[in-house]
Amino acid sequence: ETLIKSPIIRPINKGVVHRICAGQVILDLSSAVKELVENSLDAGATSIEIALKEYGAECFQVIDNGYGISPNNFKVLALKHHTSKLADFPDLLSLTTFGFRGEALSSLCALGNLTVETRTKNESVATHLTFDHSGLLTAEKKTARQIGTTVTVKKLFSNLPVRSKEFSRNIRKEYGKLISLLNAYALISKGVRLVCTNTTGRNVKSVVLKTQGTGSLRDNIITVFGVNTFSCLEPVTVCVSDNCKVEGFLSKPGQGSGRNLGDRQYFFVNGRPVDMPKVSKLVNELYKGANSRQYPIAIMNFTVPTRACDVNVTPDKRKIFFSDECSILHVLREGLQQIYSPSNASYSVNKVE
Ligand code: ADP
Ligand code: MG
Repeated sequence: ETLIKSPIIRPINKGVVHRICAGQVILDLSSAVKELVENSLDAGATSIEIALKEYGAECFQVIDNGYGISPNNFKVLALKHHTSKLADFPDLLSLTTFGFRGEALSSLCALGNLTVETRTKNESVATHLTFDHSGLLTAEKKTARQIGTTVTVKKLFSNLPVRSKEFSRNIRKEYGKLISLLNAYALISKGVRLVCTNTTGRNVKSVVLKTQGTGSLRDNIITVFGVNTFSCLEPVTVCVSDNCKVEGFLSKPGQGSGRNLGDRQYFFVNGRPVDMPKVSKLVNELYKGANSRQYPIAIMNFTVPTRACDVNVTPDKRKIFFSDECSILHVLREGLQQIYSPSNASYSVNKVE
Protein backbone atom coordinates (compact mmCIF):
# COMPACT_ATOMS: atom_id res chain seq x y z
CA GLU A 1 0.00 0.00 0.00
CA THR A 2 1.56 3.31 -1.09
CA LEU A 3 1.13 6.24 1.19
CA ILE A 4 0.26 9.43 -0.69
CA LYS A 5 2.50 12.21 0.52
CA SER A 6 0.77 15.30 1.86
CA PRO A 7 1.68 18.18 -0.49
CA ILE A 8 3.57 21.26 0.64
CA ILE A 9 1.63 24.50 0.87
CA ARG A 10 3.46 27.35 -0.83
CA PRO A 11 2.62 30.97 -1.59
CA ILE A 12 1.58 31.62 -5.19
CA ASN A 13 3.99 33.79 -7.15
CA LYS A 14 2.87 37.44 -6.98
CA GLY A 15 2.63 37.87 -10.74
CA VAL A 16 0.44 34.79 -11.03
CA VAL A 17 -1.86 36.04 -8.24
CA HIS A 18 -2.17 39.31 -10.09
CA ARG A 19 -3.24 37.59 -13.31
CA ILE A 20 -5.70 35.31 -11.54
CA CYS A 21 -7.42 38.20 -9.75
CA ALA A 22 -7.33 40.59 -12.71
CA GLY A 23 -9.59 38.25 -14.65
CA GLN A 24 -12.27 38.74 -12.00
CA VAL A 25 -12.29 42.53 -12.17
CA ILE A 26 -12.18 42.65 -15.95
CA LEU A 27 -14.57 39.97 -17.13
CA ASP A 28 -15.05 41.10 -20.70
CA LEU A 29 -14.86 44.08 -23.03
CA SER A 30 -17.75 45.93 -21.43
CA SER A 31 -16.41 45.61 -17.89
CA ALA A 32 -13.04 46.91 -19.10
CA VAL A 33 -14.56 49.97 -20.76
CA LYS A 34 -16.90 50.45 -17.79
CA GLU A 35 -13.93 50.84 -15.45
CA LEU A 36 -12.36 53.48 -17.68
CA VAL A 37 -15.58 55.44 -18.15
CA GLU A 38 -16.15 55.39 -14.39
CA ASN A 39 -12.61 56.70 -13.84
CA SER A 40 -13.36 59.56 -16.23
CA LEU A 41 -16.61 60.37 -14.43
CA ASP A 42 -14.79 60.22 -11.08
CA ALA A 43 -12.28 62.71 -12.51
CA GLY A 44 -15.10 65.19 -13.13
CA ALA A 45 -15.07 64.86 -16.91
CA THR A 46 -17.84 66.59 -18.86
CA SER A 47 -16.81 65.02 -22.14
CA ILE A 48 -15.90 61.36 -22.60
CA GLU A 49 -15.08 59.69 -25.88
CA ILE A 50 -14.82 55.94 -26.23
CA ALA A 51 -12.88 55.02 -29.36
CA LEU A 52 -12.93 51.36 -30.41
CA LYS A 53 -10.86 49.66 -33.08
CA GLU A 54 -12.43 46.54 -34.55
CA TYR A 55 -15.23 46.62 -31.98
CA GLY A 56 -12.66 46.80 -29.18
CA ALA A 57 -10.86 43.59 -30.11
CA GLU A 58 -7.83 45.42 -31.45
CA CYS A 59 -7.83 48.42 -29.15
CA PHE A 60 -10.05 50.68 -27.07
CA GLN A 61 -9.43 54.14 -25.79
CA VAL A 62 -11.24 56.36 -23.30
CA ILE A 63 -10.51 60.05 -23.74
CA ASP A 64 -11.71 62.53 -21.12
CA ASN A 65 -11.43 66.18 -20.14
CA GLY A 66 -11.27 65.44 -16.41
CA TYR A 67 -8.74 66.82 -13.94
CA GLY A 68 -5.91 64.58 -15.12
CA ILE A 69 -3.26 62.72 -13.13
CA SER A 70 -0.45 64.61 -11.46
CA PRO A 71 3.17 63.53 -12.09
CA ASN A 72 3.79 62.37 -8.52
CA ASN A 73 1.14 59.68 -9.11
CA PHE A 74 2.64 58.26 -12.31
CA LYS A 75 4.73 55.54 -10.67
CA VAL A 76 1.91 54.15 -8.53
CA LEU A 77 -0.93 54.76 -11.00
CA ALA A 78 -1.30 51.17 -12.18
CA LEU A 79 -0.19 49.35 -9.04
CA LYS A 80 -2.68 46.96 -7.50
CA HIS A 81 -4.83 48.43 -4.73
CA HIS A 82 -3.51 51.94 -5.24
CA THR A 83 -6.27 54.53 -5.30
CA SER A 84 -6.91 58.20 -4.61
CA LYS A 85 -10.50 57.47 -3.58
CA LEU A 86 -10.43 55.36 -0.42
CA ALA A 87 -8.04 55.38 2.48
CA ASP A 88 -9.75 53.57 5.31
CA PHE A 89 -12.51 50.98 5.67
CA PRO A 90 -15.18 53.35 7.06
CA ASP A 91 -14.79 55.44 3.88
CA LEU A 92 -16.75 52.67 2.16
CA LEU A 93 -19.89 53.87 3.91
CA SER A 94 -19.78 57.36 2.51
CA LEU A 95 -18.38 56.80 -0.98
CA THR A 96 -19.48 59.06 -3.77
CA THR A 97 -17.04 57.82 -6.42
CA PHE A 98 -17.58 54.88 -8.77
CA GLY A 99 -14.14 53.46 -8.02
CA PHE A 100 -12.49 52.74 -4.70
CA ARG A 101 -10.69 49.40 -5.00
CA GLY A 102 -7.68 50.58 -7.01
CA GLU A 103 -7.82 47.52 -9.23
CA ALA A 104 -8.94 48.57 -12.69
CA LEU A 105 -5.76 49.96 -14.19
CA SER A 106 -3.62 47.29 -12.57
CA SER A 107 -5.94 44.55 -13.88
CA LEU A 108 -5.94 46.05 -17.37
CA CYS A 109 -2.14 45.99 -17.28
CA ALA A 110 -2.23 42.31 -16.44
CA LEU A 111 -4.63 41.49 -19.27
CA GLY A 112 -3.50 43.77 -22.11
CA ASN A 113 -1.12 46.57 -23.06
CA LEU A 114 -1.87 49.78 -21.20
CA THR A 115 -0.72 53.31 -22.00
CA VAL A 116 -1.91 56.58 -20.48
CA GLU A 117 -1.66 60.17 -21.68
CA THR A 118 -2.50 62.78 -19.11
CA ARG A 119 -2.19 66.40 -18.14
CA THR A 120 -3.48 68.40 -15.17
CA LYS A 121 -4.04 72.14 -15.08
CA ASN A 122 -0.64 72.58 -13.43
CA GLU A 123 1.34 71.24 -16.41
CA SER A 124 1.89 72.90 -19.74
CA VAL A 125 2.51 69.63 -21.57
CA ALA A 126 1.05 66.16 -21.19
CA THR A 127 2.94 62.93 -20.45
CA HIS A 128 2.64 59.63 -22.24
CA LEU A 129 3.10 56.66 -19.89
CA THR A 130 3.70 53.00 -20.70
CA PHE A 131 3.13 50.21 -18.17
CA ASP A 132 4.16 46.55 -18.13
CA HIS A 133 1.95 43.58 -17.25
CA SER A 134 2.67 43.91 -13.54
CA GLY A 135 1.63 47.57 -13.50
CA LEU A 136 5.14 49.06 -13.36
CA LEU A 137 5.83 52.26 -15.24
CA THR A 138 8.33 51.42 -17.98
CA ALA A 139 8.49 54.56 -20.15
CA GLU A 140 7.58 58.21 -19.88
CA LYS A 141 7.68 60.90 -22.55
CA LYS A 142 6.27 64.38 -23.15
CA THR A 143 3.43 64.84 -25.59
CA ALA A 144 0.80 67.41 -26.55
CA ARG A 145 -2.68 67.16 -25.10
CA GLN A 146 -5.45 69.23 -23.56
CA ILE A 147 -6.11 68.87 -19.82
CA GLY A 148 -7.52 65.43 -19.17
CA THR A 149 -6.64 61.78 -19.57
CA THR A 150 -6.56 59.20 -22.34
CA VAL A 151 -6.26 55.55 -21.41
CA THR A 152 -5.51 53.08 -24.20
CA VAL A 153 -5.74 49.31 -23.96
CA LYS A 154 -4.49 47.14 -26.80
CA LYS A 155 -5.01 43.41 -27.20
CA LEU A 156 -7.17 42.78 -24.16
CA PHE A 157 -7.00 39.15 -22.94
CA SER A 158 -4.10 38.31 -25.26
CA ASN A 159 -2.47 36.47 -22.36
CA LEU A 160 -5.54 34.57 -21.14
CA PRO A 161 -5.89 31.88 -23.84
CA VAL A 162 -9.46 30.77 -23.15
CA ARG A 163 -10.90 34.23 -22.75
CA SER A 164 -8.96 35.55 -25.68
CA LYS A 165 -10.52 32.91 -27.91
CA GLU A 166 -13.98 33.54 -26.47
CA PHE A 167 -13.49 37.26 -26.92
CA SER A 168 -12.63 37.13 -30.61
CA ARG A 169 -15.31 34.52 -31.30
CA ASN A 170 -18.05 36.56 -29.61
CA ILE A 171 -16.87 40.02 -30.49
CA ARG A 172 -20.21 41.20 -31.94
CA LYS A 173 -22.02 40.01 -28.84
CA GLU A 174 -19.44 41.64 -26.59
CA TYR A 175 -19.82 44.82 -28.57
CA GLY A 176 -23.61 44.75 -28.20
CA LYS A 177 -23.23 44.35 -24.45
CA LEU A 178 -20.83 47.29 -24.39
CA ILE A 179 -23.27 49.56 -26.24
CA SER A 180 -26.02 48.59 -23.83
CA LEU A 181 -23.71 49.41 -20.91
CA LEU A 182 -22.74 52.76 -22.41
CA ASN A 183 -26.45 53.48 -22.79
CA ALA A 184 -26.75 53.08 -19.02
CA TYR A 185 -24.10 55.74 -18.39
CA ALA A 186 -25.59 57.96 -21.09
CA LEU A 187 -29.00 57.70 -19.42
CA ILE A 188 -27.88 58.51 -15.90
CA SER A 189 -25.07 61.04 -16.45
CA LYS A 190 -26.13 64.66 -16.22
CA GLY A 191 -24.10 67.25 -18.06
CA VAL A 192 -21.67 64.74 -19.55
CA ARG A 193 -21.16 64.48 -23.29
CA LEU A 194 -20.64 60.83 -24.28
CA VAL A 195 -19.46 59.71 -27.69
CA CYS A 196 -18.57 56.22 -28.82
CA THR A 197 -16.90 55.53 -32.16
CA ASN A 198 -15.80 52.33 -33.83
CA THR A 199 -13.14 52.09 -36.52
CA THR A 200 -13.00 49.01 -38.70
CA GLY A 201 -10.79 47.53 -41.39
CA ARG A 202 -10.38 50.18 -44.03
CA ASN A 203 -10.24 53.01 -41.50
CA VAL A 204 -13.96 53.59 -41.59
CA LYS A 205 -14.88 55.42 -38.42
CA SER A 206 -18.52 55.41 -37.38
CA VAL A 207 -20.24 57.12 -34.49
CA VAL A 208 -22.24 54.52 -32.60
CA LEU A 209 -23.46 56.63 -29.69
CA LYS A 210 -23.60 60.33 -29.10
CA THR A 211 -25.20 62.35 -26.33
CA GLN A 212 -25.06 66.07 -25.71
CA GLY A 213 -24.79 66.01 -21.95
CA THR A 214 -28.16 67.44 -21.07
CA GLY A 215 -29.54 67.93 -17.62
CA SER A 216 -32.33 65.45 -17.06
CA LEU A 217 -33.16 61.77 -17.24
CA ARG A 218 -36.03 62.64 -19.56
CA ASP A 219 -33.75 64.38 -22.06
CA ASN A 220 -31.23 61.57 -21.84
CA ILE A 221 -33.89 58.94 -22.58
CA ILE A 222 -34.95 60.91 -25.65
CA THR A 223 -31.33 61.15 -26.83
CA VAL A 224 -30.58 57.47 -26.30
CA PHE A 225 -33.87 55.83 -27.34
CA GLY A 226 -35.64 58.51 -29.34
CA VAL A 227 -38.79 60.52 -28.76
CA ASN A 228 -41.12 57.76 -29.97
CA THR A 229 -39.87 55.36 -27.34
CA PHE A 230 -40.06 58.08 -24.72
CA SER A 231 -43.71 58.67 -25.51
CA CYS A 232 -44.43 55.05 -24.58
CA LEU A 233 -43.06 55.58 -21.07
CA GLU A 234 -44.54 57.08 -17.99
CA PRO A 235 -42.73 58.64 -15.04
CA VAL A 236 -42.83 56.65 -11.84
CA THR A 237 -41.93 57.73 -8.33
CA VAL A 238 -42.22 55.42 -5.34
CA CYS A 239 -41.26 56.66 -1.89
CA VAL A 240 -40.08 53.72 0.16
CA SER A 241 -39.25 55.69 3.29
CA ASP A 242 -38.12 59.17 4.34
CA ASN A 243 -34.68 58.75 2.81
CA CYS A 244 -35.27 56.09 0.18
CA LYS A 245 -37.08 56.53 -3.09
CA VAL A 246 -37.29 55.04 -6.55
CA GLU A 247 -37.66 57.30 -9.55
CA GLY A 248 -37.69 56.59 -13.22
CA PHE A 249 -39.68 55.68 -16.28
CA LEU A 250 -41.59 52.51 -17.13
CA SER A 251 -43.51 51.36 -20.18
CA LYS A 252 -47.15 52.34 -20.16
CA PRO A 253 -49.33 49.25 -19.71
CA GLY A 254 -50.36 49.01 -23.35
CA GLN A 255 -47.01 49.96 -24.82
CA GLY A 256 -44.21 47.61 -23.84
CA SER A 257 -41.07 47.23 -25.84
CA GLY A 258 -42.15 43.87 -27.22
CA ARG A 259 -38.58 42.69 -27.39
CA ASN A 260 -36.72 40.17 -25.33
CA LEU A 261 -36.92 39.86 -21.59
CA GLY A 262 -34.61 42.34 -19.89
CA ASP A 263 -33.91 44.24 -23.06
CA ARG A 264 -33.76 47.95 -22.29
CA GLN A 265 -34.08 47.61 -18.54
CA TYR A 266 -31.65 49.81 -16.66
CA PHE A 267 -31.29 50.00 -12.91
CA PHE A 268 -29.23 52.44 -10.89
CA VAL A 269 -28.45 52.86 -7.23
CA ASN A 270 -27.52 56.44 -6.38
CA GLY A 271 -26.66 56.90 -10.05
CA ARG A 272 -24.47 53.79 -10.27
CA PRO A 273 -25.54 51.35 -13.01
CA VAL A 274 -26.07 47.94 -11.39
CA ASP A 275 -27.76 44.60 -11.96
CA MET A 276 -31.01 44.18 -10.03
CA PRO A 277 -32.44 40.81 -11.02
CA LYS A 278 -35.06 40.84 -8.25
CA VAL A 279 -36.38 44.26 -9.23
CA SER A 280 -36.37 43.29 -12.89
CA LYS A 281 -38.33 40.15 -12.08
CA LEU A 282 -40.82 42.15 -10.03
CA VAL A 283 -41.37 44.73 -12.76
CA ASN A 284 -41.84 42.03 -15.41
CA GLU A 285 -44.23 40.08 -13.24
CA LEU A 286 -46.44 43.09 -12.46
CA TYR A 287 -46.33 44.31 -16.03
CA LYS A 288 -47.60 40.94 -17.15
CA GLY A 289 -50.80 41.61 -15.22
CA ALA A 290 -51.55 44.53 -17.52
CA ASN A 291 -49.93 43.34 -20.73
CA SER A 292 -49.15 39.70 -21.29
CA ARG A 293 -47.76 40.10 -24.80
CA GLN A 294 -44.84 42.42 -24.21
CA TYR A 295 -42.04 43.27 -21.82
CA PRO A 296 -41.65 46.67 -20.21
CA ILE A 297 -38.85 49.11 -20.69
CA ALA A 298 -37.62 50.11 -17.24
CA ILE A 299 -35.23 52.88 -16.27
CA MET A 300 -35.15 53.21 -12.49
CA ASN A 301 -32.84 54.96 -10.07
CA PHE A 302 -32.88 54.00 -6.39
CA THR A 303 -31.86 56.79 -4.05
CA VAL A 304 -30.76 55.27 -0.75
CA PRO A 305 -28.41 56.43 2.02
CA THR A 306 -24.88 55.27 1.11
CA ARG A 307 -24.59 53.52 4.45
CA ALA A 308 -27.68 51.44 3.72
CA CYS A 309 -26.24 49.70 0.68
CA ASP A 310 -23.12 47.68 0.03
CA VAL A 311 -21.61 48.02 -3.44
CA ASN A 312 -18.51 46.06 -2.54
CA VAL A 313 -20.04 42.63 -3.14
CA THR A 314 -18.25 41.63 -6.33
CA PRO A 315 -15.08 43.09 -7.86
CA ASP A 316 -17.06 44.53 -10.78
CA LYS A 317 -19.48 46.26 -8.34
CA ARG A 318 -22.53 45.33 -10.41
CA LYS A 319 -24.18 43.55 -7.50
CA ILE A 320 -25.71 45.45 -4.60
CA PHE A 321 -26.81 44.46 -1.11
CA PHE A 322 -29.41 46.61 0.62
CA SER A 323 -29.73 46.61 4.37
CA ASP A 324 -33.49 46.69 3.93
CA GLU A 325 -34.14 44.88 0.67
CA CYS A 326 -37.38 43.24 1.79
CA SER A 327 -39.17 46.45 2.56
CA ILE A 328 -37.84 48.17 -0.57
CA LEU A 329 -39.22 45.36 -2.74
CA HIS A 330 -42.46 45.30 -0.79
CA VAL A 331 -43.18 49.02 -1.13
CA LEU A 332 -42.09 48.98 -4.76
CA ARG A 333 -44.51 46.14 -5.45
CA GLU A 334 -47.40 48.05 -3.92
CA GLY A 335 -46.50 51.19 -5.85
CA LEU A 336 -46.21 49.45 -9.19
CA GLN A 337 -49.35 47.40 -8.62
CA GLN A 338 -51.32 50.63 -8.74
CA ILE A 339 -49.97 51.36 -12.20
CA TYR A 340 -50.08 47.86 -13.57
CA SER A 341 -53.17 46.30 -12.07
CA PRO A 342 -55.24 44.65 -14.82
CA SER A 343 -58.16 46.96 -14.06
CA ASN A 344 -55.93 49.91 -14.68
CA ALA A 345 -54.63 48.68 -18.00
CA SER A 346 -57.40 49.86 -20.28
CA TYR A 347 -57.67 53.14 -18.41
CA SER A 348 -53.98 53.89 -18.85
CA VAL A 349 -53.98 52.91 -22.49
CA ASN A 350 -56.89 55.27 -23.13
CA LYS A 351 -55.18 57.98 -21.15
CA VAL A 352 -52.34 57.87 -23.63
CA GLU A 353 -54.52 58.99 -26.50
P1 ADP B 1 -9.95 53.28 -8.52
O1 ADP B 1 -10.82 53.93 -9.55
O2 ADP B 1 -10.68 52.24 -7.75
O3 ADP B 1 -9.26 54.28 -7.64
P2 ADP B 1 -8.28 52.55 -10.78
O4 ADP B 1 -7.30 51.48 -10.97
O5 ADP B 1 -9.45 52.57 -11.67
O6 ADP B 1 -8.78 52.48 -9.27
O7 ADP B 1 -7.54 53.95 -10.89
C1 ADP B 1 -6.44 54.23 -10.02
C2 ADP B 1 -6.29 55.73 -9.80
O8 ADP B 1 -5.85 56.34 -11.01
C3 ADP B 1 -7.57 56.45 -9.40
O9 ADP B 1 -7.79 56.40 -8.01
C4 ADP B 1 -7.32 57.85 -9.92
O10 ADP B 1 -6.62 58.61 -8.97
C5 ADP B 1 -6.39 57.64 -11.12
N1 ADP B 1 -7.12 57.70 -12.41
C6 ADP B 1 -7.50 56.66 -13.18
N2 ADP B 1 -8.12 57.07 -14.30
C7 ADP B 1 -8.16 58.42 -14.24
C8 ADP B 1 -8.69 59.46 -15.09
N3 ADP B 1 -9.33 59.17 -16.25
N4 ADP B 1 -8.53 60.75 -14.70
C9 ADP B 1 -7.91 61.05 -13.54
N5 ADP B 1 -7.39 60.12 -12.70
C10 ADP B 1 -7.52 58.83 -13.02
MG1 MG C 1 -11.50 53.03 -11.22
